Amino acid sequence: MPLSEFQIISHYFDRHRVERSDVVLGIGDDAALVTVPEGMELAIAVDALIADRHFPADTSPANIGYKALAVNLSDMAAMGAEPAWLTLALSLPASDEHFLSGFAAGLFELAGRWGVQLIGGDTVRGPLMASVQIHGFVPAGKALRRDGAKPGDKIYVTGTLGDAGAGLQLFLGQRVCAGREARDYLIERLERPSPRLEAGLLLREYASAAIDISDGLEADLGHILERSGVGASISVTALPLSDALCACVVDRGERQQLALGAGDDYELCFTVPPEKEALLLECAGALPCPITCIGVIEAEPGLRLSGLSVDKRHTAGFDHFSPGSESDV
Ligand code: ADP
Ligand code: MG
Repeated sequence: MPLSEFQIISHYFDRHRVERSDVVLGIGDDAALVTVPEGMELAIAVDALIADRHFPADTSPANIGYKALAVNLSDMAAMGAEPAWLTLALSLPASDEHFLSGFAAGLFELAGRWGVQLIGGDTVRGPLMASVQIHGFVPAGKALRRDGAKPGDKIYVTGTLGDAGAGLQLFLGQRVCAGREARDYLIERLERPSPRLEAGLLLREYASAAIDISDGLEADLGHILERSGVGASISVTALPLSDALCACVVDRGERQQLALGAGDDYELCFTVPPEKEALLLECAGALPCPITCIGVIEAEPGLRLSGLSVDKRHTAGFDHFSPGSESDV
């Protein structure tokens, strides 16, 4: 007998939970009840992950669960918010216990790591889709927004760029890579992105604007520029690349394209006023990932790239509604 909707909820989601003291009422009623600490603003974000659009349908259930939460935690990082609670809307073609146990394991693994509690959701039959909504706290007035960049601010990114793009090509068999370790690393970057929450919290004190890189650096930095009413120059040769990417993608132009245009890395791109840069660099050593300066904000609108080794570029970032974007994967 397949599990009923209520059995699915009680077996897989109303258990192994983080128990937070700010949750007054969790799963089981018509709505969850929570308390927001004094002086904090609530940061809320939601992302839907759809099979064959946001992940290949043959991705392991655990990695789907993990990524559904990771991309939302990344939005908290980009706002400088500390995540607290999540809700989950799950659409499943069938009551599939193999999927559910893997999905829940991946989701709760990451939720446990960051101390976020699942407080509600919805479970329905339909095409495979997981939508997580995340809620977090940020001290009033301290959120990292997209609209604060000023001419003269330095542009930084966390971690390395282009890994998830190469990982997707490898996963889909569109690229081969002799080195097993590099291949596994790049696919892991695609399937289990690391939300840069520690960086986001540190940057509250230093950054003038921030965004997480979900659609590609060029597109996402473009959002900061547009919202801030500024332009920028970046040096393509300064973009941080992993050893694995360099080992798997030998052509320099292709590496640059991946770093500029492939999404899904979930690194942060942020801007820092020059007077705060030295102090930030002192503190950044304690972060679990490097930060790298890639350019500078300028008054003149538009994005100027130097050091590009490809002439024809297709790095506009992913847009769900642009022609030819029927499938992302
Ligand atoms: P309602 O009928 O009020 O929409 P449901 O019957 O859909 O409530 O859900 C019962 C309870 O289980 C609610 O508290 C809801 O938030 C929770 N819930 C449903 N699906 C999930 C899920 N996938 N993850 C976590 N909680 C869930
Ligand atoms: Mg109800």
